[in-house]
Amino acid sequence: MSDNDGKKTLGLRGAGARPGNVKQSFSHGRTKNVVVETKRKRVVVPKPGGAKAGSAGGRAGGDPSRRPAGISDAEMDRRLKAVQAAKAREVEEAAKRVADEKAREEERTRRRAEAEAKEREQREAEERAKAKAEEEERKKREAEETAKRAAAAAAAPAPAATPRSEQPSGRPTPNKPAPAATPRKADRERAQRNKGPVDNRRSGKLTLGQATGGAGNRHRSMAAMKRKQERARQKAMGGTVEREKVVRDVQLPEAIVVSELANRMAERTADIVKSLMNMGMMVTQNQAIDADTAELIIEEFGHKVVRVSDADVEDVIKEVVDADEDLVSRPPVITIMGHVDHGKTSLLDAIRDAKVVAGEAGGITQHIGAYQVSTDDGTVLSFLDTPGHAAFTSMRSRGAQVTDIVVLVVAADDSVMPQTIEAINHAKAAQVPMIVAINKCDRPAADPNKVRAELLQHEVIVEAMSGEVQDVEVSAVTGQGLDQLLEAIALQSEILELKANPDRAAQGAVIEAQLDVGRGPVATVLVQTGTLRQGDIFVVGEQYGKVRALINDKGERVKEAGPSVPVEVLGLNGTPEAGDVLNVTETEAQAREIAEYRAHAAKDKRAAAGAATTLEQLMAKAKEDEDVSELPILVKADVQGSAEAIVQAMEKIGNNEVRVRVLHYGVGAITETDVGLAEASGAPIMGFNVRANASARNTANQKGVEIRYYSVIYDLVDDVKKAASGLLSAEIRENFIGYAQIKDVFKVSNVGKVAGCLVTEGVARRSAGVRLLRDNVVIHEGNLKTLKRFKDEVGEVQSGQECGMAFENYDDIRAGDVIEIFEREEVTRTLD
Ligand code: GDP
Repeated sequence: MSDNDGKKTLGLRGAGARPGNVKQSFSHGRTKNVVVETKRKRVVVPKPGGAKAGSAGGRAGGDPSRRPAGISDAEMDRRLKAVQAAKAREVEEAAKRVADEKAREEERTRRRAEAEAKEREQREAEERAKAKAEEEERKKREAEETAKRAAAAAAAPAPAATPRSEQPSGRPTPNKPAPAATPRKADRERAQRNKGPVDNRRSGKLTLGQATGGAGNRHRSMAAMKRKQERARQKAMGGTVEREKVVRDVQLPEAIVVSELANRMAERTADIVKSLMNMGMMVTQNQAIDADTAELIIEEFGHKVVRVSDADVEDVIKEVVDADEDLVSRPPVITIMGHVDHGKTSLLDAIRDAKVVAGEAGGITQHIGAYQVSTDDGTVLSFLDTPGHAAFTSMRSRGAQVTDIVVLVVAADDSVMPQTIEAINHAKAAQVPMIVAINKCDRPAADPNKVRAELLQHEVIVEAMSGEVQDVEVSAVTGQGLDQLLEAIALQSEILELKANPDRAAQGAVIEAQLDVGRGPVATVLVQTGTLRQGDIFVVGEQYGKVRALINDKGERVKEAGPSVPVEVLGLNGTPEAGDVLNVTETEAQAREIAEYRAHAAKDKRAAAGAATTLEQLMAKAKEDEDVSELPILVKADVQGSAEAIVQAMEKIGNNEVRVRVLHYGVGAITETDVGLAEASGAPIMGFNVRANASARNTANQKGVEIRYYSVIYDLVDDVKKAASGLLSAEIRENFIGYAQIKDVFKVSNVGKVAGCLVTEGVARRSAGVRLLRDNVVIHEGNLKTLKRFKDEVGEVQSGQECGMAFENYDDIRAGDVIEIFEREEVTRTLD
């Protein structure tokens, strides 16, 4: 019973004595929001009733009705009254407190709002003052005026600082109402005040916050305060930096990345981004801006602009015009060109074998991309050992024209072929003199005169046809005419009067470059002018280095290489590309600077090209993609020359329906990166004289990337062609298999009109397609519904036999019409 009573009492107290709860909350100094007040109000309103009905009805009506059983009525009454009185007092007190607190809260709010407004004003004033100060300071700097002005400018921020220092004193203001509060409230207020600035910041928010609940406000104001302090500190720091600022000379190239600009000015990137935003340019720190914009920014920050041209870094590579007396003759550089299989490689080998191996007994010839031979009369000739047009064109496209003479090989038993014409055009475009080598003259079918006549059509008039182009009949197999060919070259070279100054900083062109496992990056360089020596510091394309060793075409280490001498250069920091120009510089710093600059420029260029691709070509590509299938491939080769030759061959594969797309090509082993790229695009990897490393092999196996190895370019090209052919949609070919004449037309129930026909040609097949021809005009094309021979449905009817035919979904058939019967077949096509 008493248990029961206790529970009920507690429960009732919980409901009826909410003000009490509020009171408790106050004592902890936590709750103080309107919601609580509202609740209290709500409690206060029912309270008068509650005091009568609640305390009397709730307790006396409920519990007391049971209690009297245990306690005397008088005792119970007494207790009840006491409780009621206490309750009433409590409620009255609470109501009073609520009213008090509300009044105080309002007062506080008002004051806080006032304080906030005041503070805001101060802040604004402060900011205005600071901006003014900054402005003045800038003006001061720009004009470089007297110290007087500087003092004035320095004085300006001082008043600005005053309001800031006043801030803390401004804050206590809202605290003034506190004494009016009850001691407990005063405590709470003090506690809040102790958080200091919070109060001030919060006061404004509280007015709003009161409506939504105050708990979050305190956190927010704390954070806000911290931010504010942080800002103040930063401002103070920024101000100091600015005052001590060093005016810098900022080297400004044609385009500069924002972060780099910040770096060069020794300013914060964020400030620059901000300035740019103020100028209406939304850029991130990693974006490049043009020099004009950058100049504005540099000036705004009070630095000096030093415009540098992109090419300035390269100025150290002096364009020396050699004096005539310094020039000495140099060997000619010869490239052999011609149609495939006309014997370029054989001829190169024949010349080399005849002149090098014979001359240097036991000498190991080494393929380094070029070699030198001496003619019988002692003239030295340098041959580029990379036959074909790829090397020639890719070199030229990089601005390295190394070839002095082109030997055009045409097979005497063949004729002028497409690549012969291409070679002629290349030579003409490069304004390089040509010598025609009519090869394979040992063959019975050889007809040199036919070749000469054909060349005429392409404006190559050989000497035998009273022109100026030397022609020599040779055979790479028998060696016939080789000496005459070399003589012709020597003569041509004499006419050209090739000269170079060997006594200057060397310049050369990369013929081939590769990453050698043992030796690191190796480049075969054909020295064009000057002399390249061991220990020379150089820049080559985007790479640089110091000549660690020079190796000639015979595999011997040499100390130096003069004009027209091909050498392998060791000591590079990376693999350059064929066609890159090598320049010797004075210091390593110069070499590095140039190389880095070029790498940067190349990156920018690629990025620009990439952007152009995405923007311009996206639509074009989307359009093309509708009807062009692409076969993506990755090419890795042992040397740059091969890689480029393969890429060029790949570009030629395909037609307007199918295309080969070389996603990436490079020199060196197939790596995981290649496999990743291949996987992403569903491309096979073509390795030419290179292999995949172990991890790449594993990844390829896991991801199902196909890696194919080749050592003959034509095998590779053939395979790609076959694969690309697979992408060609099969051609649908129609074969007419028969004709039938309609003799009569019957109507058959359940079938419709049936043509009584005579198969006049070939065969009528049920499964075949049919066309209805009337006066040789196709009036319907479709399928047969039925093919009957007498009463039976049959598969086919031979020529000369009669049959009944009915069309599917068509019955406008007349006697005299002709039915054409055809079959379709899919023909796989190949690329030629
Ligand atoms: P490339 O594709 O122009 O480099 O031609 P190659 O040097 O590979 O030669 C193609 C084919 O022609 C090879 O089978 C050679 O053996 C053959 N060949 C090259 N020159 C001669 C020649 O002077 N006489 C004969 N009979 N065959 C030759």
